[in-house]
Amino acid sequence: MTKRKTETVCVQGTYQPKNGEPRVIPIYQSTTYKYESGEHLGKLFDLKADGHMYSRISNPTVAYVEEHIAALEGGVGAILTSSGQAASFLAVFNITSAGQNFVSLSSIYGGTLNLFAVTMKRMGIECRFALPSMTDEEIDALFDENTRLVFGETLSNPGLNVLDIERYAKIAHKHGVPLIVDNTFPTPVLCKPFEFGADIVTHSTTKYMDGHASIVGGVIVDSGNFDWSASGKYPELTTPDESYHGVVYTDDFGKAAYITKARVQLIRDLGCLQQPLVSFMLNESLESLALRIERHSSNAQKLAEFLETHEKVSWVNYPGLPSSDQHELAKKYLPKGCSGVIAFGIKGGREAAMRFMDACRLAAIVVHVADSRTCVLHPASTTHRQLTDKQLEDAGIGPDLVRMSVGVEHIDDILADIEQALAAV
Ligand SMILES: *Cc1c(COP(=O)(O)O)cnc(C)c1O
Repeated sequence: MTKRKTETVCVQGTYQPKNGEPRVIPIYQSTTYKYESGEHLGKLFDLKADGHMYSRISNPTVAYVEEHIAALEGGVGAILTSSGQAASFLAVFNITSAGQNFVSLSSIYGGTLNLFAVTMKRMGIECRFALPSMTDEEIDALFDENTRLVFGETLSNPGLNVLDIERYAKIAHKHGVPLIVDNTFPTPVLCKPFEFGADIVTHSTTKYMDGHASIVGGVIVDSGNFDWSASGKYPELTTPDESYHGVVYTDDFGKAAYITKARVQLIRDLGCLQQPLVSFMLNESLESLALRIERHSSNAQKLAEFLETHEKVSWVNYPGLPSSDQHELAKKYLPKGCSGVIAFGIKGGREAAMRFMDACRLAAIVVHVADSRTCVLHPASTTHRQLTDKQLEDAGIGPDLVRMSVGVEHIDDILADIEQALAAV
């Protein structure tokens, strides 16, 4: 069979009902599973048999959605987590311990930045930040023998930097460590990081994957491509795990070593699992993901082009614009579109930006991005309101900056709303 297109995998997934079985994946709202013999259950506890044991670790509904997303990204396995934050944490913590460190691009989501710079530091794990402007030599200098991975976002939130995945994969692999990529904004519809050498992918499914601003969740996907044994830096994967009678993940699970350990050890111990009902809802959203992302991207492209010509707009940041310094990277990594988030500046600074936001009718003021309804946020007067103009500039968030998350409504209605709001400035 020829490999199915992403659009088809979004709709069809991997669920194959047998004769007379439900067409749609059932919701297995059960915490536990019945077995005929204690011996079988014992084998499950030792990871020597396949099957579900307890829904903190795995559940058939959740497993189906995990397989669906693994198929979309082209990975060997995936685990759903309770949030995007949990996915970022587990993806890193699965292969780091106290006394070790990792390298992350500095242009990442604020929540992830806080997790890496503050909370994980308290666990004795140090994050070394690489600026997007750094040369290969400057990044090389961040590594030492205790560095265990490199982390970045395909399309950063909110800066909209496009990650040169091939470049960072090469740097990571030269140092014998994997590249982990947060692919939340593009989704696998616009970019599949594994095709460019990334080893692990994470998502906040709260954003475009759900796309309805209804459910919080995350996912980790393993490409199966990183050779943990050859690297020699990951005894947690290549030597016996005492909490499972000496299982060696690379011996027993091969290409799925990383993702199996993340589930049976970390989800088991930390409990940040996803629920069957929420997984079912996420799966319904995945069916329309390709359609939605195409519309988000084309609407955002048109709005960005409109804003660029408007006299009251001082600058527009959208990688789909030829004027963007990210455009060359976008052509390579996001040829099908650049997703729905735009940042732009309004002439007249903080006051003008606030007047603009208050005048929007269709675009709602919410602290969220990436759902089907157009929304708008002025960070300087909301999420970052305690900062002075100078501090805002240093953080790369000018007092005039407005962030729009362009929805899937008709573009004419979106343009009309923005036009009348700009007229009110
Ligand atoms: C929102 C977001 C997260 C965090 O996800 P939650 O589901 O809110 O925990 C991580 N990465 C990116 C790029 C995000 O936009």
